[in-house]
Amino acid sequence: MDSQTDTQWPPEQLDVKAFARDAAQLQGQAPLQAWTRLSEESQPGLQAPAVRWSAQGELQVQDGAPDQVWLHLQVHAALPLTCQRCLSPVLVPVEVDSSFRFVADEATAMALDDEAQEDLLVLSREFNLLELVEDEVILAMPLVPVHDECPAPLPMSAVDPQFEQELTERPNPFAALAGLKITPSS
Ligand SMILES: [Zn+2]
Repeated sequence: MDSQTDTQWPPEQLDVKAFARDAAQLQGQAPLQAWTRLSEESQPGLQAPAVRWSAQGELQVQDGAPDQVWLHLQVHAALPLTCQRCLSPVLVPVEVDSSFRFVADEATAMALDDEAQEDLLVLSREFNLLELVEDEVILAMPLVPVHDECPAPLPMSAVDPQFEQELTERPNPFAALAGLKITPSS
């Protein structure tokens, strides 16, 4: 984690309401390997940069209603995935810029879910912000990762010469079939 991380706001046990009330900010970064689920989604073979995130709390004052607790989250990541076009590794940038409104409990979240435009989460004094970071990156991952431009295919000379020779020496199966072909006599 970033050494600048404020110890007043432990990201794994965040008091969300206090964070919003103080309009506090928090940021950190960790190498990809430190995020279990992101590592599982990733392919070995490409060096990935650290996952960087930042969060801001906000208390939105409402007329005649309780103040709303908001959290704004940005994440910058790049995940090594497998290109679905050429099947070689591709480093895919993943950007998250999301806002969440925190409500009192699960029942309120369920009740409001249909009408609310925003993402709703349940208030906690020990909210795991890092888990949310990971969730959001996974949600933002492309379903079908591809290179913008796939690397050029390997030149034929890179193919195992032994293998290529066998290919050319192998008799054409259709040639054998042709020998068996029965031509109708007229
Ligand atoms: Zn590709």
